[in-house]
Amino acid sequence: MPYDILIIGGGIVGLATAMRIKEKHPELKAILLEKEDGLANHQTGNNSGVIHSGIYYRPGSLKAQNCKRGYQQLLDFCNRENIRYELCGKVIVATRQEELERLEALYQRGLENGLTEIKKLNSEEIKQHEPYTTGIAGIWVPYTGIIDYREVCEKYAEIFTQRLGGEIKLNQKVIRIQPKKDFSEVVTPTDTYQARMIINTAGLQSDEVARMSQPGLDVRIIPFRGEYYFLSKEKESLVKNLIYPVPDPRFPFLGVHYTRRLKGGIDAGPNAVFAFKKEGYKFFDFSLKDSWSSLTWPGFIKVMFSYTWVGLGEYWRSLNKNAFTKALQRLLPSLQKENLTPGNSGVRAQAITRDGKMVDDFLIIENEMVINVLNAPSPAATSSLSIGQSIAEMIEKKMNLK
Ligand SMILES: Cc1cc2nc3c(=O)[nH]c(=O)nc-3n(C[C@H](O)[C@H](O)[C@H](O)COP(=O)(O)OP(=O)(O)OC[C@H]3O[C@@H](n4cnc5c(N)ncnc54)[C@H](O)[C@@H]3O)c2cc1C
Repeated sequence: MPYDILIIGGGIVGLATAMRIKEKHPELKAILLEKEDGLANHQTGNNSGVIHSGIYYRPGSLKAQNCKRGYQQLLDFCNRENIRYELCGKVIVATRQEELERLEALYQRGLENGLTEIKKLNSEEIKQHEPYTTGIAGIWVPYTGIIDYREVCEKYAEIFTQRLGGEIKLNQKVIRIQPKKDFSEVVTPTDTYQARMIINTAGLQSDEVARMSQPGLDVRIIPFRGEYYFLSKEKESLVKNLIYPVPDPRFPFLGVHYTRRLKGGIDAGPNAVFAFKKEGYKFFDFSLKDSWSSLTWPGFIKVMFSYTWVGLGEYWRSLNKNAFTKALQRLLPSLQKENLTPGNSGVRAQAITRDGKMVDDFLIIENEMVINVLNAPSPAATSSLSIGQSIAEMIEKKMNLK
């Protein structure tokens, strides 16, 4: 008998979606396929571990709506399931006059997004939160927290399989989707599955999976590696919690910052450099197929020409520790290069349209039998339960479920 639902990808979005669908409709036969030998091994397992408040996102956007709803759902879930998190708050710091206007716009945006407890800070007040940070003005965001998203994923998976009767199969890379009359065949190197409805949450590979059922797709996923340094143990006291710069609205994911980890330690970074391999976590990782896919995409060529200097700047900081340190010193002037040791990295999936737009909002497109989650960047981990709920509702409509 075919599965009712087949989910491709065991990151936080796929797992939350699987759980949400089975919570609403336990009668559905559901399976999740993951190509790796473990869950959450890519974006989810290599992210900053921040529970975002929603201050950054355009009011009314999918990011703003899902972050707001997802934030509360995540906290309720963690309280119920005993998952550790800390609402430690963060400071956003302006260090230059020209950032003040953007800082004010961000403050207003936060209020519009319902964050009534955010507070403007002057330079002394910044120091009350982060004594070693120098800035001319700032915003205190008490809602922001830290969490381990791998732990959250383990719990989603446990609930989906053990409490709700769903199945998860690892080492199952989907290589083909073949539509039949009332179902599709989903093919992996070792097995073939039949499913009435497919949900593609394959993250960095979501465009490739989407093209299996929609060949003329107009977006491509371009991978950007984010590299971190660790703050050395003896300098961890320089950072109490989270210290962020004022984002440039054109490149909201740029701007190195400091993040305290729930398990201990302080991350400094990440930058964002084009990755020559979708799951390439090291500088020299290379895939001809992935590089060809990115570098021949008209949209990415446009982006490269428009923002050559921004891209080269990120590469320069990747190759040159002095330059990376200098960027970090803007927020923490007493930091020295010797206080940093190379840390982890993560690769972001950024959707870019054929005509050269970096897709900013979450993007979910559907055809008759497949729902494709094509852009789920930050704050998708914070928003996972809300995104999962929305997809469960889409499934209800598509399958005419009451
Ligand atoms: C450096 C970095 C820092 C971030 N920081 C934060 C943060 O602090 N807070 C926050 O809310 N968000 C953050 N994000 C964003 C967040 O991590 C992502 O939005 C989220 O993890 C996306 O989840 P996902 O399930 O869509 O993708 P992924 O976690 O990448 O999962 C996709 C899964 O699909 C599998 N897959 C791919 N192809 C196939 C196939 N053909 N067959 C079977 N399986 C397949 C992959 O192996 C993978 O496990 C960050 C992201 C990065 C990269």
